[in-house]
Amino acid sequence: MSRETTYNFAAGPSALPLEVLEQAAAELVDYRGSGMSVMEMSHRSAIYQDIFNEVKADFKKALNVPDTHEVLFLQGGASLQFSMVPMNLMGEQGNADYAVTGNFAKIAAKEAAKYGRVNVAADTSLGNNVHIPSQDELTLMPDARYFYYCANNTIFGTEWHYVPETGSVPLVSDMSSDILTQPLDVSRFGIIFAGAQKNLAPAGLTVVVIRKDLAGQELPNTPLMLSYQRMIEKDSMYNTPPCYNIYMLGLMLKWVERNGGVEGMDALKRERSAILYNYLDESRLFRGCAEREARSFMNVTFTTGDKDLDADFCKAAAAKGFLNVKGHRLVGGCRASIYNAQPIPAVKALAEFMKEYEVTHHV
Ligand SMILES: *Cc1c(COP(=O)(O)O)cnc(C)c1O
Repeated sequence: MSRETTYNFAAGPSALPLEVLEQAAAELVDYRGSGMSVMEMSHRSAIYQDIFNEVKADFKKALNVPDTHEVLFLQGGASLQFSMVPMNLMGEQGNADYAVTGNFAKIAAKEAAKYGRVNVAADTSLGNNVHIPSQDELTLMPDARYFYYCANNTIFGTEWHYVPETGSVPLVSDMSSDILTQPLDVSRFGIIFAGAQKNLAPAGLTVVVIRKDLAGQELPNTPLMLSYQRMIEKDSMYNTPPCYNIYMLGLMLKWVERNGGVEGMDALKRERSAILYNYLDESRLFRGCAEREARSFMNVTFTTGDKDLDADFCKAAAAKGFLNVKGHRLVGGCRASIYNAQPIPAVKALAEFMKEYEVTHHV
């Protein structure tokens, strides 16, 4: 197998654009005549500081982040934010609303319960997480310190297609798998965070966008490394940041810009996902797992309804170069992850392969 004969549908870490990888390769050993790799630079050197500042500015521009908000480049994955959010926002004896629409939101709610009272604003687990609650279905506490939701449920293939209305209660959102896929009114959010390995960069970097006035309220025993306030004061350089990943994010941001920015990504995701969903709706072998209104633009989950046949399909797909279409171990079935970097021809080829498979396997 080679890159030319395969398509990578991995849920994360996931495919990066070929031209981004090629640029990284070209600059790997000697970054623009500096005599060294970005991997070998001091994070406090002028040359790296320039890279850092440009990436941060490009991110703010791409997502239209207002000056009321700070952009942080942290580590620990999206999962560390499950702890960092309540430690910093819950306050003493605080409480928070959590919409539990999938596995990552469930873990986040459980983690938050260590620091305060968690009100489950919605829970879709009894219905196998194929649904996204409507505004009317949310049970909100008026005095919550924040409202938490996971914007795209990577495992179940559901996505919130609206931003919940919570009045003065700050919104906190895990956007690990759908950040930079659409225009966003960032001013409505208290915190947005994303592990980089789905839509932004290689694993090891977490991007946090935080409304500055929410920082500085961490619980007294919060480790310095987990204080948003500390990281804001030090511009993410309290300690060594994930330097190379930040550089990679920079290459990715330039690629997003060349392809029309978040508006361009929004158009592409609709085109990409429609290829698969349109086919699934007419297929007599496969069906989509998520409720129609809740379907994710990023993670298309589907099944034949037969565990063995699903497994056979994934195996046959892999043999033809369609890699990583096996569903998450928690839910089984199949899943095609089609983030920003996924080329349309790859998605078309997968749909074609599914049609061929249907012809030979439909009874
Ligand atoms: C992948 C993912 C996570 C976990 O990310 P890590 O960086 O591995 O901690 C959390 N939330 C969502 C929505 C994800 O897709």
